[in-house]
Amino acid sequence: MVDRPSRLQTRRQILKTAIGGTAGIVLGTPVLRLTAARAQAVSDGAGTGTLRLSDDLFVVRIPGEANVVAQIDGKGVLLVDGGSAAGSDALMKAVSSLPAAGPVHTIFNTHWHPEQTGSNERLGKSGATIIAQENTKLWLTTDVTWSWNGKRFARLPKLAQPNKTFYTTGTLESGIQYGYIPDAAHTDGDLYVYFPKQNVLAVGDVVSGEGWPVVDWQTGGWIGGIVGGLQRLQTIANADTKIVPGRGPVLSLADIKKQAEMYSEIYNRLSQMLNKGRGPTEAVEAKPTKEFDAVMGNGDEFVRRSFESLWAYLSPDA
Ligand SMILES: [Zn+2]
Repeated sequence: MVDRPSRLQTRRQILKTAIGGTAGIVLGTPVLRLTAARAQAVSDGAGTGTLRLSDDLFVVRIPGEANVVAQIDGKGVLLVDGGSAAGSDALMKAVSSLPAAGPVHTIFNTHWHPEQTGSNERLGKSGATIIAQENTKLWLTTDVTWSWNGKRFARLPKLAQPNKTFYTTGTLESGIQYGYIPDAAHTDGDLYVYFPKQNVLAVGDVVSGEGWPVVDWQTGGWIGGIVGGLQRLQTIANADTKIVPGRGPVLSLADIKKQAEMYSEIYNRLSQMLNKGRGPTEAVEAKPTKEFDAVMGNGDEFVRRSFESLWAYLSPDA
């Protein structure tokens, strides 16, 4: 069993907010929008190479790895996420070949998952500032086991742990803004990083630009939080903001709105089943994602985890 910090009150509040916040949303045409997003993925070369967002800001893509945002400044390089440990060498090579690149002086961990924190150890050793929300640090300093598949994640060594944490928001000297996304869309330690000059918003796995997301309820994520997080991001982004998700192509505010509608609909369907006393297997059999699966992929695993996440939030000992 995971040593989970108690956040009962927060969870109750989040649940209330999410339910209130999703009321009145009308299901739009997410399939069309998501198809458009996929077309963009082809045209901007998602999956390979480096995408330039502005003079000094890039999305570095190593095949098989999550998106990494790199900003070049006078002091070196700032990263949002650092890929997996296995992909770290390739990532650092790609980053060092960016125009005018220097040493990495700062890295944000958008959350604790190993797909984002695999460069922490080398960067910690070289003296970089590792910024994370306090809950992310808590997960990185404890062993985590996913109860649905037994997968185990060992805590990071001291040098690899975040060395600058925050609770709500922060601003770097350079003007870069960052903040907590408290809805628990993906984990309970999610953060965003906003580059105001370039109007780029990096959001990690709070948004998936590529297929159904992992619903990691073991460390706080839940389906209501996906909806809440997508709604919150709409208050941070504007119509021209480039939104960089953990995986997949760069998205727009319109894409985020459509995603919010889709997940809101799925959330409502799952909640109704929960209220009728149904279980995860029945939820999967009901195919509550069926009209989205052609674009998003098979939804069974996502539905099962999402349903379990409702249990995690609603059960008395959650
Ligand atoms: Zn993740």
